[in-house]
Amino acid sequence: MQTVKIPVSIDPIRAAANRLSYQGIVPSKVLKRLRELTAGDCSDVTVSLECGVDLQGIVYLKGTAVTELTLLCQRCMTLYTTEVTVDFCFSPCRTEAKIDELPDAYDPIECDEIGEVRLQQLVEDELILAMPLIPAHQNDDCNQGSQDIVVGEIEAAQEERPNPFAVLEKLKSK
Ligand SMILES: [Zn+2]
Repeated sequence: MQTVKIPVSIDPIRAAANRLSYQGIVPSKVLKRLRELTAGDCSDVTVSLECGVDLQGIVYLKGTAVTELTLLCQRCMTLYTTEVTVDFCFSPCRTEAKIDELPDAYDPIECDEIGEVRLQQLVEDELILAMPLIPAHQNDDCNQGSQDIVVGEIEAAQEERPNPFAVLEKLKSK
């Protein structure tokens, strides 16, 4: 199957009217902001996208984006890769009033002066929002076991507090 590149920007109204759909990639090299947040790299992003108009006449761009990120585990300080998947459902809005009217199922997006939306940028934004706040292995994969994370905000560290039984288990095995 031929890999097509997802367009940098599209006219959502026209795309919806023509019921366009895309299966393709956004090359990782254009995702500078996302790559800067990783510890090394991200893979090309696989995107599927469907454009249409719902029963209420709302134009939507609906789809999924998947990438693999290389991150630095904040517990054991080694690199690991993790897959990040986002589902999105955008709707172009021209005015504040339109944004207020939009059902919750849709995320409002802005069109530029020629009525287009920056598709690759939108996908990148969604992936950045879906990144883990404090990257870390799943406990079983981590070289430091379930030890507490010492960096990051206090709240997040509290959530990561090891369960007391795990600590007991460690003491027993010594
Ligand atoms: Zn780790």
